[in-house]
Amino acid sequence: MPVMPPEIVRTVAELRQAVNAARLSGKKIGLVPTMGALHAGHVSLVEASDAVCGYTVVTVFVNPTQFGPKEDFSKYPRTFDADVAAVGRAGADLVFAPDNAEVYPAGFATFVEMSGVAEPLEGQFRPGHYRGVATIVLKLFQMVGADIAFFGQKDYQQTRVVQQMVRDFNVPIQIEVCPTVREPDGLALSSRNIYLSAAERRSALVISRALRKVEQSVAAGQRDVWKLRDDLQTELATVPEVRVQYAVVADAETLHEPAILDRPCVALIAAHVGTTRLIDNVLLAPPK
Ligand code: AMP
Repeated sequence: MPVMPPEIVRTVAELRQAVNAARLSGKKIGLVPTMGALHAGHVSLVEASDAVCGYTVVTVFVNPTQFGPKEDFSKYPRTFDADVAAVGRAGADLVFAPDNAEVYPAGFATFVEMSGVAEPLEGQFRPGHYRGVATIVLKLFQMVGADIAFFGQKDYQQTRVVQQMVRDFNVPIQIEVCPTVREPDGLALSSRNIYLSAAERRSALVISRALRKVEQSVAAGQRDVWKLRDDLQTELATVPEVRVQYAVVADAETLHEPAILDRPCVALIAAHVGTTRLIDNVLLAPPK
């Protein structure tokens, strides 16, 4: 069956009209927020939505408020036509691609400030990042009025930030977290991977390798979180081209670091390879 290309809208008014029509015809509404430059990881979220929702909205918006002043906002990759084709094949019904003025009109003055799970890790190294993320995600939730929103585990702390924000603001939406999609050699897919040279890409593999080692240690019975963190850092140190910002094992809910792996945890890494900043993580279940 030929795939119907998704409708493309630029304004909130058009978006609401299309979503209301879908809702009136009895369809469940799925939302996949993205910044474009889409890859198989994003596509997996669209497929997950299409599997359970009759109508899937993909948003493509490079959100300026979540980038720091020295970050890559202006050079963030933009591949709109290919993005629309990819999400269309995956079952998206509508692409919402507003411009900056539609999202942040002159006089915009309200931001979501979060403590708790937004504070450690990315919160330390990217001050203001989650203020921008929580604000745009809340705005997209209000604009679309979806039943379910789909996020990738790749940005683990972001999923915790969104879940916390939804709870704190009583937003009537279900949050689904989908597994990280990787290259066959383990590298987590990221729109920023295109910045990597061939040599940097090889170096970057130490990140997923370190995470796999920790998974294996846990499977072998290791419960000492300090030891697990040490394993992570030792493996990362084998490739000095990879400059680590953090490499930790944290409580999967609070992101605090426990002493013993006696609850669901997550190993998280952020590192620069050349000028490219990469993040990755794996979930760690406590040994039975
Ligand atoms: P982005 O546009 O890259 O900020 O991400 C949009 C959504 O795609 C977020 O929910 C990300 O967590 C998710 N995502 C990014 N990379 C991956 C990946 N490799 N696997 C699964 N989801 C991903």
